Amino acid sequence: MQHLSDRINNLPISATLAMAAKARELKAEGKDIISLSLGEPDFNTPEFIKEAAKQAIDENYNSYSPVDGYLDLREAICRKFKRDNNLIYSPNQIVVSTGAKQSIANVAMVLLNPGDEVLLPAPYWVSYSAIATLAEANYIEIPSTIETDFKITPEQLEAAITPKTKLIFFNSPNNPSGTVYTESEYRALGKVLEKHPNIYIISDEIYEHINYGEANFSFASIESLYDRTITINGVAKAFAMTGWRIGYIGAPNWIAKACTKMQGQITSGANCIAQRATITALDAPVSKIQFMVDEFHKRRDLVLNLVKDINGLKANVPKGAFYVFPDVSYYFGETIGGIDINNASDFSMLLLEKANVATVTGEAFGAPDCIRISYAASTENLKEAFKRIKEVLS
Ligand code: GLU
Repeated sequence: MQHLSDRINNLPISATLAMAAKARELKAEGKDIISLSLGEPDFNTPEFIKEAAKQAIDENYNSYSPVDGYLDLREAICRKFKRDNNLIYSPNQIVVSTGAKQSIANVAMVLLNPGDEVLLPAPYWVSYSAIATLAEANYIEIPSTIETDFKITPEQLEAAITPKTKLIFFNSPNNPSGTVYTESEYRALGKVLEKHPNIYIISDEIYEHINYGEANFSFASIESLYDRTITINGVAKAFAMTGWRIGYIGAPNWIAKACTKMQGQITSGANCIAQRATITALDAPVSKIQFMVDEFHKRRDLVLNLVKDINGLKANVPKGAFYVFPDVSYYFGETIGGIDINNASDFSMLLLEKANVATVTGEAFGAPDCIRISYAASTENLKEAFKRIKEVLS
């Protein structure tokens, strides 16, 4: 450790990936672990997308692509933004990266200076805070609770802004709470941001299609904010393509250019075969993936009922993504199966050790009373997991 940089020593391990690794390790040891930790669709990538990848290999797509992505892919992304989000971008405003996570990291690296402040409406995805730290910025959490469906208010936003605020991370449908902001809620928050022209907005819309209620709204479709919004998306969640690692941004051209410069020194661009397959994915009608969304919707309802059935757990009704985020603080201060439960991490450990169920502690998401349960798992596994959880808690 002593020879490592402060940068890496100060960086927390990704709690989602760490829990997934732990679950894998225990499974390899022969334990019957049900992993509800990692958020990734449990479907296979649709055949028509796999065919496009095979064709790209046969057509000898094997060389470096342009650093910002193939032009015809960036054109397909522009069509997608127009069709799904009513956003007009030109290909020179698009940068394709190795997953939405890299897209976010690029933006943070090119916009933030040491000491800048980044606003994180909490709960937030684990890597936002880590990426802000990597960029040597300070992150400020804006808390929310189950009572407000984990939404922040315009007043809270206004109160969190200081002259040092440079960036806000916004994510709806939200990981981990499943919260979906309505258009009018976006506009109310937008009114606050309009008054602060030095603040940029990362609008992470990676779960836009995993949405059970109102259609997704995009921050960049508020005209006055278009020039300072970076829209993040990717194919991982909607098309069951997590491992293909393709994310992208739509952004003001000067930010897109800077992100291209950044990844030109780090990755040279995203995987060429995955980029070709992404064109096919994005050009397909959204109806082709509806069966997965329908299935997640059913599982959400199932899981909410299973949560209700457990004494002491409280949850909001997630309107999107594939997580439930129950408050487990009822159990704090108790000792269960010899394990002292003082916080959500202890609770999550209890479930892993005594129920063989992997979840992720809310502490990693800036919500220390909750745990995240991914329902991107089979109905059978979900039922069995909750049966075991119930047994342990009673
Ligand atoms: N976004 C997913 C999750 O939160 C993937 C894992 C990760 O990259 O954090 O589980």
